[in-house]
Amino acid sequence: MAKLTVRDIDLKNKKVLIRVDFNVPIKDGVITDDNRIVQALPTINYVLDNGGKAILFSHLGRIKTEEDKAKNSLEVVSNRLSELLNKPVLFINETRGEKLESAINNLKSGEALMFENTRFEDLDGKKESKNDPELGKYWASLGDVFINDAFGTAHRAHASNVGISSNIDVAAAGFLLEKEINFIGGTLENPKRPMVAILGGAKVSDKILVIENLLKIADKILIGGGMAFTFYKAMGYEVGKSLLEEDKVELAKELLEKSNGKIILGSDVATAKEFNNDSKRSFYNVDEIPNDEMGLDIGPKSIEEFKEIIKTAKTVVWNGPMGVFEFENFAVGTKEIALSLAEIKDQATTIIGGGDSAAAVIQLGLAEGFTHISTGGGASLEYLEGKVLPGIAAVKDK
Ligand code: AMP
Repeated sequence: MAKLTVRDIDLKNKKVLIRVDFNVPIKDGVITDDNRIVQALPTINYVLDNGGKAILFSHLGRIKTEEDKAKNSLEVVSNRLSELLNKPVLFINETRGEKLESAINNLKSGEALMFENTRFEDLDGKKESKNDPELGKYWASLGDVFINDAFGTAHRAHASNVGISSNIDVAAAGFLLEKEINFIGGTLENPKRPMVAILGGAKVSDKILVIENLLKIADKILIGGGMAFTFYKAMGYEVGKSLLEEDKVELAKELLEKSNGKIILGSDVATAKEFNNDSKRSFYNVDEIPNDEMGLDIGPKSIEEFKEIIKTAKTVVWNGPMGVFEFENFAVGTKEIALSLAEIKDQATTIIGGGDSAAAVIQLGLAEGFTHISTGGGASLEYLEGKVLPGIAAVKDK
């Protein structure tokens, strides 16, 4: 890749600023999923093993009041990190100042320190989230080199990513960021063909730019989930009580016309009368959806149609579940698609673009079946839209 990575830089005795994404779910003071911490370990261990002094920081939650601060301290995260590294991690409950500076200056090669939630700076004029120039410059001054390993915030220009990068000579990607750039960026640039995109989730409006970008890149785009019903309507079908964005029907028509047959919708759906798991499941062809039914999943024929196309793919990019996967009875389509992707793992690059489809696959226990599951929801969506992500752009080129 053209970007500088942690492998390219001299770390020995250097104060290494590492922006990680430790925005983990915490309930009653206990971390309920430490995956984001685990994912950052390769970069942190690499820095420590190569004689760097690791200075770690992340955002956690949103900080609007003093109360938010109490709930969103990174101390519990720092403790978990220490357990996972099997090494002490010195926690500094400040985001700036003398205590932090002297702790950094006392750090020895191979030691780690974590400072407090970067968004504590948001309480005073959104300094972190608005990339306050003074803050980025200050944080940059605390280290010798900067490593960005937080893909989850790469679509935002914050002081802790872009701000630091712009004020330091050496800004490189960590292993996690590198992986995202290689898999998502690399695939979009140069996919092995045929490339199949699978899009689902609730709304067309959230995915318009993704569809438009992928129409230029993919060979086929399979559409399921709630967003499919706006397309069915555009094709002239009635969709009963299904999710429908009336104001996007015209756009869906245009996309279908423009797509030249690239956009493919299934021929049947699984429906229910009510939006709940126990409502009786029925199956209808898409031209026969009754007025009092709502589509909550793709149907068995659609699953087979999609599977036939997936079988031939050399690259698959998937964003958005095929149905309301939170309801077991309507998770069938999402699960079957995930299984069929796991089957082609040896012949194809299969990528899940974060968010709900990643959550669905993990929840279904099928995470191992994929080449890459992105760690960023919003970031991977913007990447799929073809946008330049500021957090990636700010990493220096080789
Ligand atoms: P997104 O965040 O856009 O990927 O959307 C994910 C959400 O879409 C999940 O919470 C799903 O339950 C929901 N979803 C998927 N299919 C449908 C559907 N047919 N009707 C209503 N919601 C759906």
